[in-house]
Amino acid sequence: MALIVQKYGGSSVGNLDRIHHVAEKVIKAKNEGHNIVVVVSAMYGETDRLIQLANALTQHHDPRELDVLISSGEQVSMALLSMALNAKNCPARSFTGPQIGIFTDSIHTKARILDVKTDIIERELNQGRIVVVAGFQGVNDRGDITTLGRGGSDTTAVAIAAALKADECQIYTDVDGVYTTDPHLIPEARLIPQISFEEMLEMSSLGAKVLQMRSVELASKHSMPIRVLSTFSDGAGTLVTFEDKIMHKRLVSGIAFSREEAIISLSGIPRQIGIEGRILSKVNQANIEIDMIAQNATTEDKSDFTFTVHRREYPKAMKVIEELSTELGKINVKTNSKVAKLSLVGIGMRSHTGVATTMFRILGEQGINIQMITTSEIKISVVVDETHLEKGVRAVHQGFELDKPFQSSDRSFIE
Ligand code: ADP
Ligand code: ASP
Ligand code: MG
Repeated sequence: MALIVQKYGGSSVGNLDRIHHVAEKVIKAKNEGHNIVVVVSAMYGETDRLIQLANALTQHHDPRELDVLISSGEQVSMALLSMALNAKNCPARSFTGPQIGIFTDSIHTKARILDVKTDIIERELNQGRIVVVAGFQGVNDRGDITTLGRGGSDTTAVAIAAALKADECQIYTDVDGVYTTDPHLIPEARLIPQISFEEMLEMSSLGAKVLQMRSVELASKHSMPIRVLSTFSDGAGTLVTFEDKIMHKRLVSGIAFSREEAIISLSGIPRQIGIEGRILSKVNQANIEIDMIAQNATTEDKSDFTFTVHRREYPKAMKVIEELSTELGKINVKTNSKVAKLSLVGIGMRSHTGVATTMFRILGEQGINIQMITTSEIKISVVVDETHLEKGVRAVHQGFELDKPFQSSDRSFIE
């Protein structure tokens, strides 16, 4: 008898028919002789609706109250799924994150899980019941409800699977698994049968929302492989696991992108020791997260400093920059609030040079201007005009032959 944690995302529980369908899937797994814990997201669109309600009421809501509000979506799903299971004569009980004992820090709307209690889940499983848990939420040491950031139900599932030492953690969603890029943008994208934690971490952090980044981090830390599967069709999906377990390795695994970026470029900054720190601490003090950073000296006494932020933070960032320019004297500010980031990810880059050259050539051939570049051991990110994103992703996807099926020869480059 295996212990399986299954997570169903928002579109998988988007209406009552789908909740019935999920209940059938859960019952099938139970009838195969397994113990099942199910983590559910809010019904599709519900978290957005709740956030909009809060924003319509006031722009200055207390984050504590926002968490009370937005955690409610998952509570609805868990109760409905549990009712559907019971109605099909499959005993089930639902619990919120705080009820189960998912303890987090106190950073409202972005809390991190610190501890997961297993006694209630184990008690219920021992009684032969399915345990349905609300994803995306926990409780801090003051007893306040917290939420885990957008997409956080993935992290709830992995955290519970790790705490229970489950045999499998299955993430059910609206696509067949992890693809070479978002199949909703590029229909030629291919399903990746297996991907390393490291690459998946990059893909998630660079915009592939199929798994929340923290869920991948946690899974890797606790050696808990994740299988991403479709709620609506059969198939083996994608196994996210350790690199040495992977059969088909490619030079480049996939392309991630994020649209909502803005770039701010300051030139004529006086070259003083610590000036970069001064600029960044101003931006950080305004609670703005900086994504990419580049700095270069242009003359003996001047330098350029360029960074990107999420587009929603752009107006706030510009305010800070205005204050800074009065402090720093005559600096030039150039901005573009309509840029996107395109990133190529692959463990093969560690051992093979030339990937960046090929990528830049492909983008150049498409007439796409690169506004900024950052690299790490296994990824290259470029900032391009938003209107060029789709064309760029398609060209790079094709150029690296990611639209070709996976073959046994894919492993050759790395050995
Ligand atoms: P859920 O509601 O099940 O959590 P999400 O919307 O959070 O689902 O994540 C699934 C979506 O992730 C897909 O519908 C797809 O558009 C998007 N996505 C982005 N990049 C990828 C990728 N590389 N592979 C698969 N899906 C991706
Ligand atoms: N309902 C939350 C969201 O929309 C959490 C999740 O779906 O994973 O972000
Ligand atoms: Mg999700």
